Amino acid sequence: MKIKLLVIFNLLLISSLHVMSQPAINSAAVEKVWAQYNKYKEPAITNRFMKHAQMMPLIQKHVDSKFVSRDEIGKSVRDRSINHLIAGRGKTKVMLWSQMHGDESTATMALFDMFNFLSAKDDNEGLRNLILDNLELHFVPMLNPDGAQAWKRRNDLEIDINRDARMQVTPEGRALMELAKKLQPQIGFNLHDQNYLYSSGRSKNSATISFLAPAYNYPKDMNDVRKRATQIILSMNKALQTKSPGNVAKYNDDFDPRCFGDTFQGMGISTILIESGGYYQDPEKQFIRKLNFLALLNAFESIATASYEKEDLKDYDLIPENDNSLYDLFIKNVTISKEGHEFKTYLGINRTQIRNPDNSGMTYSGRIAELGDQELMFGYDEIDATGLKFTPARIKTMTRAEWDKLSPNQELDLIKGGYLFVKWSDSKSPVGAVKNRLLSLTNNKESPVEEAGIGQSAHFLLTRDGKPVYAVVNGYKVDLGQPAKVLSNTYGY
Ligand SMILES: [Zn+2]
Repeated sequence: MKIKLLVIFNLLLISSLHVMSQPAINSAAVEKVWAQYNKYKEPAITNRFMKHAQMMPLIQKHVDSKFVSRDEIGKSVRDRSINHLIAGRGKTKVMLWSQMHGDESTATMALFDMFNFLSAKDDNEGLRNLILDNLELHFVPMLNPDGAQAWKRRNDLEIDINRDARMQVTPEGRALMELAKKLQPQIGFNLHDQNYLYSSGRSKNSATISFLAPAYNYPKDMNDVRKRATQIILSMNKALQTKSPGNVAKYNDDFDPRCFGDTFQGMGISTILIESGGYYQDPEKQFIRKLNFLALLNAFESIATASYEKEDLKDYDLIPENDNSLYDLFIKNVTISKEGHEFKTYLGINRTQIRNPDNSGMTYSGRIAELGDQELMFGYDEIDATGLKFTPARIKTMTRAEWDKLSPNQELDLIKGGYLFVKWSDSKSPVGAVKNRLLSLTNNKESPVEEAGIGQSAHFLLTRDGKPVYAVVNGYKVDLGQPAKVLSNTYGY
C-alpha cells in the first residue's frame, strides 16, 4: 500500500511538473537528436523518387551491420521483393509500413533516417536503448514498389492497395495482412502522403502532417485500441507543434472497411495514419521528411515510456481537420480586363506536377485554377494586387546563342521591360519544361496568355501605371523589387 501511495504521489509530482514546465514538450533526448538530424539523414536518398533497386542496397547495409534482420514477406505484381525488417528487443510490437501508394514516399525516406539513428553508436545511446529495449520494431518500407517505379498511387493490377484490405486481391495487400496476422502487433503506423494543397482547418497553414486514428466501425466508437492510437497521435502532435506550429491537421474519420487502417484497428492493432502534406518552399518534401522522423521518434519514445497514456482524448478535438483553403499562389484584388469588361477579382493559381518520362522527378505547370470573389482562401505565396493590373507579357526575339548567354539578371531586366517569353529567330525552341530560368520560350508570334481565364497558363505581369511590379511566371510569384532568382522550371510553348 505504502509503495502504491508513493507511486501515486510521484505521478502527481510528475504531472504537476509537466504542467509547470511547458513548453518543454519534447524530451531533452529527442531535442538533441533533432538537432543532430543531419548526422542520421540517409545521404543516398537525395529526393523523393527513390526506386526499389536504389532501396535494396540501403536495406542490405543494415542487414550486414546486423542492425536489422530481414525476411521477404511477398513479391509485388512485377516480382519486386516486399521486405520486412526487424529491430529491437522489447516486448511491445510496433509495425510500420510505408508507400502503400507508390507516389507517397516521404515516410520511406524518414524510415531510412530512423534506421541510421537507431543503428548508430554515439552519445544518443540513452534514447536509442530506451526504444530498442522496449519495442520490437517491424518495418515494411515501400509496400508498393511497382507503384514507386512508375510514380503512381496504385499497384500494377490498377488496384488501390489501401482499398484492398477486405478482398485482398493484390499480392502487396496480402503480404501486409499476413504479416499483421502473424505478428499481432499492439501498434501500427500506416504511412502516406496527401495533397500538398490541404490546409489545417480553414487557414493559411498547410496541413504538413495529418493524423488519423481510424474508426473500426460505422458509428466511429472509441475503444481502448483506438484510444491508444489517439493518445500517441496527441503526443506526436505536441512534438510537431514545437517545430512547425499550426501545420498539423487530422484526417476525416469516416469508417471504410476496405482500408487497412480501419481493418487493423478492428483487429486490435492500435493503428495510426500519418499523412505527409505540403510545406512552404519544400516541394521535394525534405523538411517534411525530417518532421516524419521527429514524429516517429517521439512516438517510439512515448510508447517505450508509456507517457502517451497521460494524453487527454479531448485534445484530439482541438486538432483542426484537413481543409481545402490553399493555392500555390493567391492574388487578391487584381484588376483584369476580359471580354471588354474591366473588374477587380481574385485569382487562385496552382502548379500541376508532371512526371518526368523516366519517373525520376517532376516539373511544374502553373495555371489559373479559380477566378472571382473568394472567402477564406489563401496561398503558399500571396500577392495583394490592389491597384495593380493584369497585363499580358510580350515576346522578345533573339538568337538561340543570345538566349544561351542570358544571365538571371538580364532575364529579370527583360521582365521589368514587359517580356516573359523569348522566341528564337534562328531555330525552333523546345516545348515543355525549361529548367532554371526566369523567362519562358515560345515558337508562336503571340503571347500564350492574352487575358486571365480559368485553365490558362499562369504567365502575366501585374503592372501599376503600365510599369511591371510583379510577374507571374509559370505560376510562380516573381517580385521585381527583389534580386534575380531562377525558377525550378518555366515553360516552352
Ligand atoms: Zn496514400
